[in-house]
Amino acid sequence: QRKALAKLAAKDTMSNDGKKTLLAANISSDSEVEFAIQHGAEGIGLFRTEFLYMKTDKLPTEEEQFDIYKHVLDLMGDRPVTIRTADIGGDKPVPYLKAPKQDNPFLGYRAIRLSLDREDIFRTQLRALIRASAFGKLSIMFPMIATIEEFRQAKTVFNEELAKVQADKLPVGDIKLGIMVEVPATVILADQFASEVDFMSIGTNDLIQYTMAADRGNEKVAYLYQPYNPAVLRMIKMVIEACHNNSILACMCGEMAGDQLAIPILLGMGLDEYSMSSRQILPSRSLISTLDSDKMVALANRTLSFYSTSNDVIKDVK
Ligand code: PEP
Ligand code: MG
Repeated sequence: QRKALAKLAAKDTMSNDGKKTLLAANISSDSEVEFAIQHGAEGIGLFRTEFLYMKTDKLPTEEEQFDIYKHVLDLMGDRPVTIRTADIGGDKPVPYLKAPKQDNPFLGYRAIRLSLDREDIFRTQLRALIRASAFGKLSIMFPMIATIEEFRQAKTVFNEELAKVQADKLPVGDIKLGIMVEVPATVILADQFASEVDFMSIGTNDLIQYTMAADRGNEKVAYLYQPYNPAVLRMIKMVIEACHNNSILACMCGEMAGDQLAIPILLGMGLDEYSMSSRQILPSRSLISTLDSDKMVALANRTLSFYSTSNDVIKDVK
């Protein structure tokens, strides 16, 4: 069976009825890229760069970051690479930044909020990314976007750094700018966001916890952390529809994208790109090759009409 899967490593991802999707890898370090390619990654859908800030006791310099981003892009060649700006805070503390202690870190000073507040750190990262863009197919993604102003502000800072790099006569690639959809407010305004961004990537790990108001790490309320709750599924559907109405890619990089039970539903909803841990890629490609997208549309629609997380969904999919 492993051999049969290995054969899929160099293949496109195609449903039984010929609908093409893209399976990408989530990584936290450039050292994971080769493993991702061996496991059939058609792109990198999420590079969690905060680990560059967490593994030492000081901020990574522009040169250090440039080398790492360039390395990832070089290895991926003409395959798309989405790098997320630092998602610091919440469950990923960086002690040397000395952020104030917070009662609710998941609702606090984290991710894009910290980047827009600490523009010095943000600009260094953007500059490293912009310089690296000459070496591959780069998309930059901002985490935890909750308002359109946050995206506009991030884009303004990006454009300023882009202009500086260009003024220095350094080569730059054609960079796409997108957001992670992790906050319910952003789902509700997805159609507005979709008219301004180049792509959206649904971060279900956070989106589920914020939708259900259940801390993703708290065992006592784990029963409320429900990926198949129709409220969550409807949100995912809203985002995908908003993307397609605006002709942009609908991506997902939360755990749900690599979940064998969720994939049929997501395929039925029309999700374009699935980013997951590398080990999940070949089994997911194999699964998708057995599914008919038309039938999955009916399945997806049925799940949206449920009143609660129903075992029927799961049975149906199986
Ligand atoms: C998510 O929230 O789904 C996500 C991919 O981001 P992280 O798990 O890094 O918070
Ligand atoms: Mg997240």
